[in-house]
Amino acid sequence: MPGCSVCGGPPSFTRRYSGEALCTTCFKSSIVEKTRRTVSKYSMFKRGDRVAVAVSGGKDSLALLEVLVQLYRPRRVPIVAVSVDEGVAGYRDEALEHARAVCSRLEVDHTVVSYKELYGFSLDEALDWNEERDVSSCSFCGVFRRRAIDQAAAGAKATVVATEHKLEDYVQTFMMNLMHGDVARLGWLDPAYADSAFPVRRVKPFMEIYEEEVALYAYHSGIPFQSVSCPYMHEGLRSEVRDYLNAMEAGHPGIKNVLLSSSLDVISRYSGSSDKESTSCRNCGNPSSSDLCAVCKMKATVEEHVKSRD
Ligand SMILES: [Zn+2]
Ligand SMILES: [Zn+2]
Repeated sequence: MPGCSVCGGPPSFTRRYSGEALCTTCFKSSIVEKTRRTVSKYSMFKRGDRVAVAVSGGKDSLALLEVLVQLYRPRRVPIVAVSVDEGVAGYRDEALEHARAVCSRLEVDHTVVSYKELYGFSLDEALDWNEERDVSSCSFCGVFRRRAIDQAAAGAKATVVATEHKLEDYVQTFMMNLMHGDVARLGWLDPAYADSAFPVRRVKPFMEIYEEEVALYAYHSGIPFQSVSCPYMHEGLRSEVRDYLNAMEAGHPGIKNVLLSSSLDVISRYSGSSDKESTSCRNCGNPSSSDLCAVCKMKATVEEHVKSRD
């Protein structure tokens, strides 16, 4: 068996799409280096930035935090962590414990905000409303989570939020936009897209890395893995797209990489076209494409339901 392609040592992983065999140390370095190149290629961090890493407490977000601290603390870039507690008993509690442990080991300031304090209800309390609706719990929860992360990041005085999205998340979202006929929203996927209405930029430093490799990095770095998955997980079309892409990759190693670069190519042509006229929500004042923002709309529906149930 040939040795590690970099150092000649005993290999522990073979990257199927490139044929490289890597030992654990060289594999981990390759992930750190790839992240650095992605951040630099898309100018994700700018001079004077204060970076908030959105930490769910899952292994991928904690791996991201670990990699960014390794890369940018020596360059004196301030890094903090922000988490959202949606209020899912048994599930998020465990994740937040992992997040606290890793943040304290890395000596990173950690801010947690909850749906309960921000919106007045936890996801558990809002849930039975959702079950009757034709909206997936993930998209419902995502609207609230996005706002919560923005608020936590603003509270932590961050100028940019780094999220854990991997190559697959990126390509899946691209394909789902096509399948939903949401071509106008493709511009939002541009890694350099910045909506001037939102003060905190969003970046995805893992967007060029396979999720399998992020998981392996987390494993080799002693990052805790969650034992339970979200009880409300219901991704519908996304999980079908994921399975399809995994099957394609198994038969054609590297095809996900090709899809990523094709997606970026298409996206760059739509960049800037998605800037709908942005106004302010009449209720909360946050940027919105309509009179009432998505958060306030969903919040009103949940409140109405909770009232009618009591
Ligand atoms: Zn090696
Ligand atoms: Zn609003």
